Amino acid sequence: MSSKTVAVIGAGLAGCEAAWALANAGVPVALYEMKPKKYSAAHHYSGFCELVCSNSLKASRLGSAAGLLKEEMRRLGSLIVPCAEQTAVGAGGALAVDREKFSDLVTQKIKKHPLITIVQQEVTTLPKGDVVIATGPLTSDGFAKTIRQLCGEEYLSFYDAAAPIVTFDSINQDKTFFAARYGRGDADYINCPFTKEEYELFYHELVAAQSVELKEFEKQGLPVYEGCMPIEVMAKRGADTIRYGPLKPVGITNPHTGKRPWAVVQLRKENAGGSLYNIVGFQTNLRFPEQKRVFSLIPGLEHAEFVRYGVMHRNTFLNSPKLLDNTYRLKKEPRISFAGQITGVEGYIESAMSGILAGLNMARRMKQEPPLILPQDTMSGALTAYISDETVEHFQPMGCNMGILPSTEIRIRDKSQRYEIVANRALESLNAALLVK
Ligand SMILES: Cc1cc2nc3c(=O)[nH]c(=O)nc-3n(C[C@H](O)[C@H](O)[C@H](O)COP(=O)(O)OP(=O)(O)OC[C@H]3O[C@@H](n4cnc5c(N)ncnc54)[C@H](O)[C@@H]3O)c2cc1C
Repeated sequence: MSSKTVAVIGAGLAGCEAAWALANAGVPVALYEMKPKKYSAAHHYSGFCELVCSNSLKASRLGSAAGLLKEEMRRLGSLIVPCAEQTAVGAGGALAVDREKFSDLVTQKIKKHPLITIVQQEVTTLPKGDVVIATGPLTSDGFAKTIRQLCGEEYLSFYDAAAPIVTFDSINQDKTFFAARYGRGDADYINCPFTKEEYELFYHELVAAQSVELKEFEKQGLPVYEGCMPIEVMAKRGADTIRYGPLKPVGITNPHTGKRPWAVVQLRKENAGGSLYNIVGFQTNLRFPEQKRVFSLIPGLEHAEFVRYGVMHRNTFLNSPKLLDNTYRLKKEPRISFAGQITGVEGYIESAMSGILAGLNMARRMKQEPPLILPQDTMSGALTAYISDETVEHFQPMGCNMGILPSTEIRIRDKSQRYEIVANRALESLNAALLVK
């Protein structure tokens, strides 16, 4: 293999896109994949780009987050978006695929590319030279150890215990208020105050709500420490347990009443722009419709728009804001880039998008060209900025959503009209960025 060959590890959504982008830029690639010799607990099919669960790449409509992201990917030279379109099955407004035909088509295209060599083996040590690591949320144990040594033990998580995220615009500002406990520091938190009656109703619904059934392999590595306990599990310990925990009202006065509330839910900024907030201490394993129903009983969140629901599942991911730059490169060892779910983007198309950008940027660097850093009003640019934003303290994975994009200058009440304007603005920005070389 040429000394300029890039090793791409993992032929999933991100690895295939990274290999494709590199090879199309004239860079030879050795694509390592452990299947069919070894399978993770969720992979079963021998082809590349296996969709392990749903067969949907989400909405097609341009005025939706997923539709916009796919259109951006198309313009960035995506492999998987056209393959998905060629193997699509009817799914209303979504782009869903025949998963085996989709995988076969991607595999065939990758295998036919003259600059891509397939190496069927599990990687356990780091190859020499330039490397893109795209081994996904279920990276093999042997290689996860190597990544841990490379990045630092505290920077690799094996489990996702995330609280829901809502858009700032959808929080009822008439009921909530900004404040910090005991007035310490800046008034960084949005506080949702409960009366006793509101709390009792909320509590009753929370403990009775339905949870997700975890699969056997997902139970491995379940966090056992109190800090990660699902809110509904903590609530079941007693009617007041959460009122002495994440919902404690001490040190907080409701400016609307001049009194201390019975309980308080706090929301903390999720992104630097302040367009998204997470519900502090609300890591949860409730089913998504149940989260919507029960958490909408929190005063101020009656009409909250959830851009991400809380999840608890196996997920190998880096603390990317501390480790990666905005080209997906490892700051402390720039010959190495990461791509896919392991970087903290979440979802099939998000993983694939990060593979395109990691691959394009590595190719550009090898040719001594300036990096491609997309504007933050594009979906790809916003997600990339999110995973590499050094100011983020409690990093949790993020999928594409309209809340992550800057709002329109003039507030447009109609959501679909607003999203369409935001999407068109994103594509104009992307086109302009692609014109600059
Ligand atoms: C159980 C589960 C269900 C999910 N369901 C959905 C869903 O329905 N919709 C959605 O949008 N997202 C879903 N996701 C999240 C995510 O979108 C997918 O995991 C997605 O496939 C991530 O893409 P990736 O390229 O990062 O990793 P993957 O697609 O998993 O690709 C990684 C590849 O690397 C290979 N590999 C791993 N370790 C090694 C090694 N050491 N050496 C060589 N090869 C290696 C694997 O065999 C695999 O082919 C799910 C995740 C999980 C774990």
